Amino acid sequence: MNDCIFCKIANGIIPSQKMYEDEKMIIIKDINPQAKLHYLAIPKEHFCDITELSKNSPETLTHMFSVIADKKDELGFKDGMRVITNVGENGCQSVKHIHIHLLGGEKLSEKMG
Ligand code: AMP
Ligand code: ZN
Repeated sequence: MNDCIFCKIANGIIPSQKMYEDEKMIIIKDINPQAKLHYLAIPKEHFCDITELSKNSPETLTHMFSVIADKKDELGFKDGMRVITNVGENGCQSVKHIHIHLLGGEKLSEKMG
């Protein structure tokens, strides 16, 4: 997608603070952190949201969660984390390229929505 910011980040056109990269995905620091630690796991291939990703490339979704599980201690989530992906208007998804928020590094609020 030409004008998609996360496609540009995934392709290195826009710089980011990359914590992890492989052929299918990246994990970057969120530019506007909502917790002590706030990362985004982003597939390199463009899908609008998690419903499109799971329908069209379930193996990528599985891969992403497998990497998150492998890397969680290294990323600072030994004591837990919150894993969120916003979908659409009511979910307040602002970037229309699926990304999984990883939040933690501290005790988070019990409030979810
Ligand atoms: P969402 O509202 O779920 O679509 O989340 C979009 C997230 O992307 C927000 O947490 C933003 O802070 C983050 N974000 C937007 N632009 C960038 C960027 N260039 N680098 C890192 N994170 C970004
Ligand atoms: Zn994209």
